[in-house]
Amino acid sequence: MKPSRNGWNEPLAPVEGFMFDLDGTLVLSDRSLGGYRVLPGAIEVLRELQGRGIPFVVLTNGTAYPAAEQAPKLRMLGLPISDEILLTPSIVAADLMTRHGVKRALVLGIPGVGQPLAQAGIEIVFTGQERADQVDAVYIGWHPDCGMKDIETACKAIWNGADLYVASDVPFFATAGGKTMGYSHAITAAVRKITRAPMILTGKPSVHALKLVAKKLRVPMRRVGVIGDDPLVEMIMARRGGAMGFGVTTGITTAEGWASQPRGRRPHRIVRELGEILDITTAESPRK
Ligand SMILES: [Mg+2]
Repeated sequence: MKPSRNGWNEPLAPVEGFMFDLDGTLVLSDRSLGGYRVLPGAIEVLRELQGRGIPFVVLTNGTAYPAAEQAPKLRMLGLPISDEILLTPSIVAADLMTRHGVKRALVLGIPGVGQPLAQAGIEIVFTGQERADQVDAVYIGWHPDCGMKDIETACKAIWNGADLYVASDVPFFATAGGKTMGYSHAITAAVRKITRAPMILTGKPSVHALKLVAKKLRVPMRRVGVIGDDPLVEMIMARRGGAMGFGVTTGITTAEGWASQPRGRRPHRIVRELGEILDITTAESPRK
Protein backbone atom coordinates (compact mmCIF):
# COMPACT_ATOMS: atom_id res chain seq x y z
CA MET A 1 0.00 0.00 0.00
CA LYS A 2 1.33 3.48 -0.86
CA PRO A 3 1.90 5.93 1.97
CA SER A 4 -0.16 9.14 1.90
CA ARG A 5 0.99 12.37 3.56
CA ASN A 6 -0.18 10.98 6.89
CA GLY A 7 1.03 7.44 6.30
CA TRP A 8 -1.15 4.91 4.51
CA ASN A 9 -4.23 5.22 2.39
CA GLU A 10 -6.06 2.90 4.70
CA PRO A 11 -9.67 3.83 5.47
CA LEU A 12 -10.17 5.23 8.96
CA ALA A 13 -13.22 4.56 11.06
CA PRO A 14 -14.44 7.54 13.10
CA VAL A 15 -12.36 8.04 16.24
CA GLU A 16 -14.33 9.06 19.33
CA GLY A 17 -11.60 8.83 21.96
CA PHE A 18 -7.83 8.54 22.12
CA MET A 19 -5.30 6.45 23.99
CA PHE A 20 -1.80 7.89 24.13
CA ASP A 21 1.33 5.95 24.93
CA LEU A 22 3.64 7.86 27.28
CA ASP A 23 7.33 7.05 26.63
CA GLY A 24 8.34 8.02 23.10
CA THR A 25 4.92 9.52 22.31
CA LEU A 26 4.20 12.29 24.86
CA VAL A 27 7.51 12.34 26.76
CA LEU A 28 10.98 10.84 26.81
CA SER A 29 12.00 9.78 30.29
CA ASP A 30 15.53 10.53 31.32
CA ARG A 31 16.74 8.07 33.92
CA SER A 32 19.92 10.01 34.62
CA LEU A 33 17.86 13.05 35.59
CA GLY A 34 15.02 11.00 37.10
CA GLY A 35 12.57 13.05 35.07
CA TYR A 36 10.89 13.59 31.72
CA ARG A 37 11.27 15.73 28.64
CA VAL A 38 7.99 16.67 26.93
CA LEU A 39 7.87 15.89 23.21
CA PRO A 40 6.86 18.62 20.73
CA GLY A 41 3.12 19.23 20.43
CA ALA A 42 2.13 16.97 23.34
CA ILE A 43 0.82 19.71 25.64
CA GLU A 44 -1.00 21.55 22.85
CA VAL A 45 -2.69 18.43 21.46
CA LEU A 46 -3.97 17.22 24.84
CA ARG A 47 -5.26 20.70 25.70
CA GLU A 48 -7.00 20.95 22.33
CA LEU A 49 -8.70 17.56 22.80
CA GLN A 50 -9.76 18.64 26.27
CA GLY A 51 -11.18 21.87 24.82
CA ARG A 52 -13.13 19.97 22.18
CA GLY A 53 -14.49 17.52 24.74
CA ILE A 54 -12.87 14.51 23.05
CA PRO A 55 -11.97 11.96 25.75
CA PHE A 56 -8.45 10.60 26.07
CA VAL A 57 -6.43 8.41 28.42
CA VAL A 58 -2.71 7.75 28.73
CA LEU A 59 -1.62 4.11 29.02
CA THR A 60 1.98 3.47 29.94
CA ASN A 61 3.49 0.02 30.31
CA GLY A 62 5.53 1.34 33.23
CA THR A 63 4.50 0.07 36.66
CA ALA A 64 7.20 1.73 38.78
CA TYR A 65 4.92 4.54 39.93
CA PRO A 66 1.22 4.47 40.75
CA ALA A 67 -0.84 7.01 38.80
CA ALA A 68 -1.26 9.19 41.90
CA GLU A 69 2.53 9.61 41.99
CA GLN A 70 3.25 9.84 38.27
CA ALA A 71 0.39 12.03 37.02
CA PRO A 72 1.35 15.05 39.21
CA LYS A 73 4.89 14.91 37.74
CA LEU A 74 3.41 15.00 34.24
CA ARG A 75 1.12 17.90 35.19
CA MET A 76 4.18 19.79 36.46
CA LEU A 77 5.49 19.65 32.89
CA GLY A 78 2.24 21.17 31.60
CA LEU A 79 0.55 17.97 30.38
CA PRO A 80 -3.16 18.03 31.33
CA ILE A 81 -3.23 14.45 32.67
CA SER A 82 -5.40 13.83 35.75
CA ASP A 83 -4.71 10.86 38.03
CA GLU A 84 -7.88 9.16 36.77
CA ILE A 85 -6.86 9.07 33.09
CA LEU A 86 -3.33 7.73 33.64
CA LEU A 87 -3.57 3.95 33.28
CA THR A 88 -0.90 1.35 34.02
CA PRO A 89 -0.75 -2.44 33.61
CA SER A 90 -1.24 -2.69 37.39
CA ILE A 91 -4.64 -0.97 37.06
CA VAL A 92 -5.56 -3.46 34.30
CA ALA A 93 -4.25 -6.31 36.51
CA ALA A 94 -6.37 -5.16 39.46
CA ASP A 95 -9.46 -5.06 37.25
CA LEU A 96 -8.76 -8.51 35.74
CA MET A 97 -7.81 -10.19 39.03
CA THR A 98 -10.95 -8.89 40.69
CA ARG A 99 -13.03 -10.37 37.88
CA HIS A 100 -11.06 -13.67 38.08
CA GLY A 101 -11.70 -13.95 41.84
CA VAL A 102 -8.05 -13.46 42.92
CA LYS A 103 -7.91 -12.85 46.69
CA ARG A 104 -4.17 -13.00 47.34
CA ALA A 105 -1.27 -12.23 45.00
CA LEU A 106 2.52 -12.49 45.15
CA VAL A 107 4.01 -9.32 43.66
CA LEU A 108 7.43 -9.31 42.02
CA GLY A 109 7.99 -5.58 41.96
CA ILE A 110 8.76 -2.48 43.98
CA PRO A 111 6.00 -1.44 46.44
CA GLY A 112 4.28 0.88 43.93
CA VAL A 113 3.66 -2.05 41.55
CA GLY A 114 1.19 -3.74 43.88
CA GLN A 115 -0.60 -0.59 45.07
CA PRO A 116 -3.53 -0.71 42.58
CA LEU A 117 -4.07 -4.38 43.55
CA ALA A 118 -4.17 -3.52 47.24
CA GLN A 119 -6.56 -0.66 46.51
CA ALA A 120 -8.83 -3.15 44.75
CA GLY A 121 -8.95 -5.23 47.96
CA ILE A 122 -6.48 -7.92 46.93
CA GLU A 123 -4.08 -9.08 49.66
CA ILE A 124 -0.55 -8.61 48.32
CA VAL A 125 2.54 -10.44 49.55
CA PHE A 126 6.21 -10.20 48.69
CA THR A 127 9.06 -12.75 48.64
CA GLY A 128 10.22 -13.63 52.14
CA GLN A 129 6.81 -13.10 53.73
CA GLU A 130 5.00 -16.00 55.32
CA ARG A 131 3.28 -18.36 52.84
CA ALA A 132 4.37 -16.14 49.93
CA ASP A 133 4.03 -19.15 47.63
CA GLN A 134 0.43 -19.80 48.71
CA VAL A 135 -1.41 -17.33 46.47
CA ASP A 136 -4.01 -17.23 43.69
CA ALA A 137 -1.81 -15.17 41.39
CA VAL A 138 1.78 -14.11 40.73
CA TYR A 139 2.14 -10.59 39.33
CA ILE A 140 5.39 -9.49 37.68
CA GLY A 141 6.05 -5.73 37.28
CA TRP A 142 8.90 -3.23 37.61
CA HIS A 143 11.50 -5.00 39.75
CA PRO A 144 15.06 -3.78 39.11
CA ASP A 145 16.39 -5.61 42.20
CA CYS A 146 14.72 -8.94 41.46
CA GLY A 147 16.79 -11.81 42.81
CA MET A 148 16.83 -15.59 42.54
CA LYS A 149 14.68 -15.91 45.70
CA ASP A 150 11.94 -13.90 43.96
CA ILE A 151 12.07 -16.14 40.90
CA GLU A 152 12.07 -19.25 43.08
CA THR A 153 9.08 -18.08 45.14
CA ALA A 154 7.16 -17.23 41.95
CA CYS A 155 7.89 -20.67 40.49
CA LYS A 156 6.76 -22.40 43.71
CA ALA A 157 3.56 -20.36 43.75
CA ILE A 158 2.83 -21.38 40.16
CA TRP A 159 3.56 -25.05 40.95
CA ASN A 160 1.09 -24.62 43.82
CA GLY A 161 -1.58 -23.51 41.34
CA ALA A 162 -1.21 -19.72 41.04
CA ASP A 163 -1.88 -18.03 37.69
CA LEU A 164 0.85 -15.85 36.17
CA TYR A 165 0.02 -12.20 35.40
CA VAL A 166 2.62 -10.03 33.68
CA ALA A 167 2.61 -6.22 33.39
CA SER A 168 4.84 -5.89 30.37
CA ASP A 169 6.56 -8.38 28.15
CA VAL A 170 8.40 -5.80 26.08
CA PRO A 171 12.16 -6.41 25.70
CA PHE A 172 13.02 -2.68 25.57
CA PHE A 173 11.48 0.78 25.41
CA ALA A 174 12.52 4.31 24.40
CA THR A 175 14.18 6.70 26.84
CA ALA A 176 16.35 9.79 26.39
CA GLY A 177 19.35 7.45 26.74
CA GLY A 178 18.16 5.17 23.91
CA LYS A 179 16.91 1.59 24.22
CA THR A 180 16.25 0.58 27.81
CA MET A 181 15.73 -3.03 28.88
CA GLY A 182 12.33 -4.12 30.17
CA TYR A 183 13.04 -5.85 33.48
CA SER A 184 9.72 -7.68 33.69
CA HIS A 185 10.43 -9.31 30.32
CA ALA A 186 13.64 -10.82 31.70
CA ILE A 187 11.99 -11.96 34.95
CA THR A 188 9.03 -13.44 33.08
CA ALA A 189 11.38 -15.29 30.73
CA ALA A 190 13.10 -16.91 33.72
CA VAL A 191 9.85 -17.91 35.46
CA ARG A 192 8.26 -19.29 32.30
CA LYS A 193 11.39 -21.16 31.24
CA ILE A 194 11.17 -23.08 34.51
CA THR A 195 7.40 -23.47 34.95
CA ARG A 196 6.18 -23.32 31.34
CA ALA A 197 3.19 -21.46 32.78
CA PRO A 198 0.95 -19.57 30.35
CA MET A 199 0.87 -15.86 31.08
CA ILE A 200 -1.93 -13.35 31.31
CA LEU A 201 -0.51 -10.12 29.92
CA THR A 202 -2.11 -7.02 31.41
CA GLY A 203 -0.15 -4.22 29.72
CA LYS A 204 0.07 -3.38 26.02
CA PRO A 205 -0.30 -5.14 23.54
CA SER A 206 -2.88 -7.11 25.51
CA VAL A 207 -6.49 -6.67 24.44
CA HIS A 208 -7.32 -6.69 28.19
CA ALA A 209 -5.59 -3.30 28.32
CA LEU A 210 -7.47 -1.96 25.29
CA LYS A 211 -10.78 -3.16 26.77
CA LEU A 212 -10.13 -1.17 29.94
CA VAL A 213 -9.13 1.86 27.82
CA ALA A 214 -12.42 1.66 25.89
CA LYS A 215 -14.35 1.30 29.15
CA LYS A 216 -12.67 4.40 30.62
CA LEU A 217 -13.27 6.38 27.40
CA ARG A 218 -16.87 5.10 27.21
CA VAL A 219 -16.48 4.32 23.51
CA PRO A 220 -16.33 0.97 21.66
CA MET A 221 -12.83 -0.47 21.06
CA ARG A 222 -13.14 0.10 17.31
CA ARG A 223 -13.71 3.83 17.92
CA VAL A 224 -10.48 4.23 19.90
CA GLY A 225 -7.49 5.97 18.30
CA VAL A 226 -4.33 4.32 19.64
CA ILE A 227 -1.24 6.54 19.40
CA GLY A 228 2.19 5.10 20.06
CA ASP A 229 5.79 4.62 18.97
CA ASP A 230 6.13 0.85 19.11
CA PRO A 231 4.81 -1.55 16.44
CA LEU A 232 5.05 -4.51 18.83
CA VAL A 233 3.17 -2.70 21.57
CA GLU A 234 0.56 -0.13 20.53
CA MET A 235 0.04 -1.25 16.92
CA ILE A 236 -0.37 -4.96 17.67
CA MET A 237 -2.87 -3.97 20.37
CA ALA A 238 -4.78 -1.64 18.03
CA ARG A 239 -4.94 -4.25 15.26
CA ARG A 240 -5.97 -7.05 17.63
CA GLY A 241 -8.77 -4.97 19.12
CA GLY A 242 -9.97 -3.46 15.83
CA ALA A 243 -8.98 0.07 16.94
CA MET A 244 -7.36 2.75 14.76
CA GLY A 245 -3.55 2.92 15.06
CA PHE A 246 -1.43 6.07 14.75
CA GLY A 247 2.34 5.64 14.72
CA VAL A 248 4.55 8.52 15.90
CA THR A 249 8.17 8.98 14.84
CA THR A 250 9.44 10.52 18.11
CA GLY A 251 10.22 7.23 19.86
CA ILE A 252 11.81 3.96 18.80
CA THR A 253 10.34 3.82 15.27
CA THR A 254 11.21 6.03 12.29
CA ALA A 255 8.87 6.63 9.32
CA GLU A 256 10.94 4.08 7.37
CA GLY A 257 10.68 1.69 10.30
CA TRP A 258 6.87 1.94 10.23
CA ALA A 259 6.85 1.46 6.47
CA SER A 260 8.69 -1.85 6.76
CA GLN A 261 6.25 -3.36 9.29
CA PRO A 262 4.00 -6.25 8.35
CA ARG A 263 0.29 -5.39 8.30
CA GLY A 264 -0.47 -6.62 11.82
CA ARG A 265 2.03 -4.15 13.28
CA ARG A 266 1.44 -1.22 10.96
CA PRO A 267 -0.43 1.94 12.00
CA HIS A 268 -3.39 3.17 9.97
CA ARG A 269 -1.52 6.49 9.77
CA ILE A 270 2.04 7.63 10.40
CA VAL A 271 2.01 10.80 12.48
CA ARG A 272 5.08 12.95 11.89
CA GLU A 273 3.76 15.69 14.17
CA LEU A 274 1.38 14.89 16.99
CA GLY A 275 -0.90 17.77 15.90
CA GLU A 276 -1.88 15.74 12.79
CA ILE A 277 -4.28 13.67 14.87
CA LEU A 278 -6.36 16.82 15.39
CA ASP A 279 -6.91 17.10 11.62
CA ILE A 280 -7.94 13.47 11.48
CA THR A 281 -10.36 13.97 14.33
CA THR A 282 -11.81 17.12 12.80
CA ALA A 283 -12.15 15.57 9.39
CA GLU A 284 -13.35 12.14 10.27
CA SER A 285 -14.78 12.11 13.77
CA PRO A 286 -18.53 12.55 14.18
CA ARG A 287 -17.81 15.01 17.03
CA LYS A 288 -16.67 17.92 14.85
MG1 LIG B 1 6.40 4.00 23.89
